[in-house]
Order: sequence, then C-alpha cells, then structure tokens
Amino acid sequence: RARKRFGQNFLQDEMVIDAIVDAIAPEPGQPLLEIGPGLAALTRPVVQRSGHLHVVELDRDLANRLEKSAEFAGKLTVHRADALKFNFADLAASLGTPLRVFGNLPYNISTPLIFHLLSHVNTISDMHFMLQKEVIERMAAEPGSKAFGRLTVMIQQACEVVPVLEVPPEAFDPAPKVDSAVVRLLPYAESPWPVKDRATLNHVCHMAFHQRRKTLRNNMKKLMSAEELESLGIDPAARPETLSVADFVNMANWITENNRTL
Ligand code: SAM
Repeated sequence: RARKRFGQNFLQDEMVIDAIVDAIAPEPGQPLLEIGPGLAALTRPVVQRSGHLHVVELDRDLANRLEKSAEFAGKLTVHRADALKFNFADLAASLGTPLRVFGNLPYNISTPLIFHLLSHVNTISDMHFMLQKEVIERMAAEPGSKAFGRLTVMIQQACEVVPVLEVPPEAFDPAPKVDSAVVRLLPYAESPWPVKDRATLNHVCHMAFHQRRKTLRNNMKKLMSAEELESLGIDPAARPETLSVADFVNMANWITENNRTL
C-alpha cells in the first residue's frame, strides 16, 4: 500500500527509529517540524518527548489519518503541503523562533528539497534527515574526492555536516534499492565562507562541474578568464573537484562584485 510516487518507504526497525530519535533529542516546547510523517514511525516517539510537532505531508490519505487519530489529538499541526513549496521561513516567523527540521525524506525529491531548505536556512536551527547514503557522502565529501560537487559546496558553505548513522534497506517496508544513512546539518550562524548571493554560488557550481574532466578554465570561460581565476589564487588548469569550498565562494563573490552577468 506504500505509494511509489510519494517515495514511501516506511521505517519498521525499532532500533533504528530509537537511534534517530536519540540523535534528534527532542525536548518539550521545541519548534519541531517533520517532513513526510507517513505512518508516524518517527512522529510517535518524537511527540512523546516534545509534546507537540508540526508535520508536512503531501499524501492526503496519510495526512487525514494523522489528523483524525485520537492518539495525536492536540499534539500535531498537520500541514497538507508539498515540502518543496512549503514556506519554512513563514512558519519560523509565526513561531518566533528558528525551526528544528527532521524527516525520513522521500528520496525521489531529496536533492531539490535540500536546495529548497537551503534557501530558508537562516530560519532553521538544525536538521536531521534520512537520505540515500550516496547523497550524504556527497554532502560530507572532501576536496579531491569523486563525491565532491555542487551539493557538497552548497551544503558546506551553509552548514556543518555530521553523518550520524548508516541504515540498511531491511529497516524499511518496502525496502529501498539503495543504502541509507542519517545526517545532521547544523546551519552556521556565520559561515566561515560568507557568500554574497547564494544563487550565484549555485550557478558557479553548475558551470564549474558541468564537465568534470575538463579544467576549470574551460568550464568557467563564459564567466571568468584564466587571469581572473589566477588573481583569486585559483589554478585555471585544476579540475573542479580539487578546489575548496572557499575557492567556489571566492569565485561567486568575485562575480557578484564585478557584476558579471550569468
Ligand atoms: N516518516 C515515515 C517513516 O519514516 O516511516 C515515512 C517516510 S517516507 C520515506 C516519505 C514520506 O514523505 C511519505 O509519508 C510521503 O507521503 C511523504 N512525501 C512524499 N513527497 C512529499 C512532499 N513533496 N512533501 C511532503 N511530504 C512528502
């Protein structure tokens, strides 16, 4: 009965559920928001500790079940919404405090959802997400590794990335085809690499990683010359994945300051 188009893989392993809830460490009165509560595998133990919880669920049948269940009466605020369009900043403003966001995310939309959350990152205090293990490896990647790419730069500019635990397919019903893991994302109050315009950084990453086997000079030639790259201390002959997050932020800020049109 799980719906594939909603990316539904329900957690069933109590040990894994306990470990995730311990990692979240919910406390009474905290502004918690769960994305995709589904059949409440995480919702139930979190609300036991926090007393109240906001949930965003796209599947109307599941949202109805949660809203009608006596177990959760007065304890859940159900937002029937697409998390990709949900205004996290508005909810944080109405609660008067940054949100603690968590969820076992629908894998089919995980990357766009992470980017949507990043656009609201200053209204979020922390995040705990179940994702494909491979996505978490990209988030946590070091320069020089194959996994280092646009997602790495965009996440690491804004958040400290802490892998929490790995989760095998059997922990879910139905079992997904991929390995999973849980990550903690801690948005910086002040990033070590302040970016003037996040959209420009995203664009620079798109360009720089467009053809991974090409040099930076080649991928970036529409925006910056070899000399301009060198002026930032960046080797134009380098492959994009060998640069640091700081290098990408420097390129983006240079482009913003020099009004280069994207
Ligand atoms: N939290 C439950 C668990 O751990 O067993 C369910 C997790 S399941 C992987 C993903 C959940 O996200 C499902 O309940 C699904 O209906 C919901 N969902 C899918 N797409 C969504 C979207 N765009 N916005 C909000 N919820 C969505």
